[in-house]
Amino acid sequence: MLRELRTVESAQERHVTIAGKTCLCFCSNNYLGLANDARVKEAARNAIEKYGWGTGASRLISGTMRLHRELEERIAQFKGTKGSMVFATGYMANVGAISALVGAGDAVIIDRLNHASIIDGCRLSGAKMLVYRHGDTKSLESVLSGAHGYKRRLIVTDGVFSMDGDICPLPDIVTLAKRYDAMVMVDEAHATGVMGETGRGVVEYYGLEGQVDVEMGTLSKALGGMGGYVAGSKELIAYLQNKCRSFVYTTAPPPAACAAAIEALNIIEKEPERRERLWKNVEHLKKSLTTMNLPMTNSASQIMAVIVGEASKAVAKSKKLYRKNILIPAIRPPTVPKGSSRLRISVMSEHEREDLDRLVSLL
Ligand code: PMP
Repeated sequence: MLRELRTVESAQERHVTIAGKTCLCFCSNNYLGLANDARVKEAARNAIEKYGWGTGASRLISGTMRLHRELEERIAQFKGTKGSMVFATGYMANVGAISALVGAGDAVIIDRLNHASIIDGCRLSGAKMLVYRHGDTKSLESVLSGAHGYKRRLIVTDGVFSMDGDICPLPDIVTLAKRYDAMVMVDEAHATGVMGETGRGVVEYYGLEGQVDVEMGTLSKALGGMGGYVAGSKELIAYLQNKCRSFVYTTAPPPAACAAAIEALNIIEKEPERRERLWKNVEHLKKSLTTMNLPMTNSASQIMAVIVGEASKAVAKSKKLYRKNILIPAIRPPTVPKGSSRLRISVMSEHEREDLDRLVSLL
């Protein structure tokens, strides 16, 4: 169970170099190939030239720079919300937003398979944590119907679940939230840039724009960079700017990271073919894996997982693939439930057909 760091000596592409050997990478969240895109890099370089590297202070002191504001406006425009705010990481966005929105006397209602950063935010908030069965709206309703003794109720769910690749049943969640007077927060980390007609996420995928109170996401996956965001109403953003400790009490992220994210959003809007390539790859791989009858999670996205079971077996299989120059680390408890260790595969737009076929033949 001891984890080790692997050191990548190249840029993040479909191939990465580790210990001098070139591996085909199937575990990156760089879904649209923007982490090493020439235009994104140029935007970051230009920002460094103009604004320098560091911000020198937290956002509410003197760390808010022109590019933070531009990125926040750009995200709000992209998401179709009235406002947005940027955090140094997606982890900090979740931890900070949840712990600012609920506290003692409130209930936070979460899917059993939500991401660790959501769980940590819930723990920090001091609100009562009520857990419903994964993706199960009957279970959610039974939790909600028993949660009337709390001041506020907040439902939080991953949009695309990070370890299984399935999508949350958001329309039913929104309906139930209205019925039981709860707020809804969706984590679009793995959906931003990927899901929905124009890559705006699971909210767009379901056509639920304007019906979700808190839309959180990262700049670190399909956008290929670094940072997190929360998008929503002007009131929500003003409240969080005042109350959110992971926003208030930390140094503002570098302006270059903001410039890179703005450029990545521009590319995502200008080049829908990236998303089209990604979905073609997903379809091809899924078809091949389905015909092999492997035990897979119920994926509906670019994240797929072959369930192995025992942690040691998953590690052995991952090592075997690595010997054949395929990089897919084993995912083990506590990241996934005991007995469900897996090979988690993430597909990128930049994978070639032959990459996918090679993976299938080795699996
Ligand atoms: N939410 C989910 C669902 C995630 O998978 C992750 C990253 N693994 C995060 C939030 C945190 O985002 P970041 O990596 O930008 O801190």
